[in-house]
Amino acid sequence: MTLRPFLFMSAAALLACGGPPAGTGEPAAAPPSSSPRPAEAASDEARGAAAASEKAAPGPASASGAALPGPAPASVTKLLADIDPTRLRADVDRLAGFGTRHTLSDTASETRGIGAARRWLLAELQRAAEASGRTGELAMTAAFDVHRVAPDGKRVDREVEVVNVVAVLPGSMPEARRRRYYVLAHYDSRASDVMDATAEAPGANDDGSGTALVLELARVMATRSFDATLVFMATAGEEQGLLGARRHAEAARAAGLEIAGALSNDIVGDPSDPRGGSHRAEIRLFSEGVPVTADLAAWQLARQTGAFADAPSRQLARVVADVAALHGLAVRPRLVFRPDRFLRGGDHTAFNEQGFAAVRFTEVAENYDRQHQDVRTEAGRAYGDLPAHVDAAYLADVARVNAAALAHLADAPSPPGDPKLMATELTGDTTLRWTASPEPDVAGYEVLRRATSAPGWEHAQDVGAVTEATLPFSKDDWLFAVRAYDRDGYRSPAAFPRVARE
Ligand SMILES: [Zn+2]
Repeated sequence: MTLRPFLFMSAAALLACGGPPAGTGEPAAAPPSSSPRPAEAASDEARGAAAASEKAAPGPASASGAALPGPAPASVTKLLADIDPTRLRADVDRLAGFGTRHTLSDTASETRGIGAARRWLLAELQRAAEASGRTGELAMTAAFDVHRVAPDGKRVDREVEVVNVVAVLPGSMPEARRRRYYVLAHYDSRASDVMDATAEAPGANDDGSGTALVLELARVMATRSFDATLVFMATAGEEQGLLGARRHAEAARAAGLEIAGALSNDIVGDPSDPRGGSHRAEIRLFSEGVPVTADLAAWQLARQTGAFADAPSRQLARVVADVAALHGLAVRPRLVFRPDRFLRGGDHTAFNEQGFAAVRFTEVAENYDRQHQDVRTEAGRAYGDLPAHVDAAYLADVARVNAAALAHLADAPSPPGDPKLMATELTGDTTLRWTASPEPDVAGYEVLRRATSAPGWEHAQDVGAVTEATLPFSKDDWLFAVRAYDRDGYRSPAAFPRVARE
């Protein structure tokens, strides 16, 4: 695939990710302020230094040091309060109640199998659309996204319809509406044998938890307006090889859709650790640091510039962590600087493969007795992915991480266009150029900066409503990026510059 402009980040960040972050990004590190106005950003030098001296939070890198200035927007806080663990509980139970949601399972029954499950999901999303009271071109729409898949000699042994269930909430700002942010989860399930389409496969946590989260976000967000478009998607065929997500992402790319970010939630309902204890305050967030689409030239440039942690997906992950810190959420992302776990895959990868920024949420300590296992007891040991193992209060907190991130992303401006780091002459300064973000409420830009050995952005410097800035820091020693802010103080994800020689 072709070289993309935002490819690069710091190699040292990969090495550093086992250690504590340079800054915790805790809101407490930020100076008191009365509103999330751009002017606050000028003090971020001090904030970065303060954050760096703070004791690190448990676990590897969390939010970046270039913390979002507070206070948290009240409209988003209200949205988060509407997320209801009781509904999440009921939805997980309902999904498990279909017996199996295997992609090759029965589609005629009204009570069992993937056909019944998808019709129920569509009905729920349509109900959410009706309840929203939105009409006309801003109404939320829900529909099946159908893909006919032929036998592939792998995990599909007969022709099958793979059906995603998709709801689209159009953005209310014409200049931002093209930009889409996804929250997704797979609603198909599996038993021990991936080809067994009839055995009990309740899939309560994998991925009933993520599917319930998507439904709940559709309900609470459909009643509100956001500048950019939100898409709520339940995919099928994930367990058979990311079939639904891959076909959806391929079609989106072919149609020229602008998917600016996708949050995949897969196994997000059980904070317990099979070795004992709980990770109640964390959710892992996986992201690629170099796009899977990077070609040899891109890798060579990454080597030269030390930029191995700045793919758009990584910037997206940083935004999620920053927003969670700003809102003081009960669950915080634990950023993992990897595309995914060993020996496992997920739908976010299907988006990455088409050049879209996409990240994966997964609980901290997975219990493999409760995934991809026939429901049974063997030698006194219980197996199976049952609803009893999903903690609805935790799941609600993970849903809040997603909702807050989506609300900020969808109300923030686009990242600055075509950002360039000028490498034209030997100077001790650094000059960046970019093109203006198209939204009419853009108020200015911030230059982000971090040490080559730092995992997250450490400093944010307000440069005002300009498209070029020169800073008295050497490009040899720092990594830079640019983000846009609007009049309400919402920040875009970081746009990482390409190296320009003229
Ligand atoms: Zn899964």
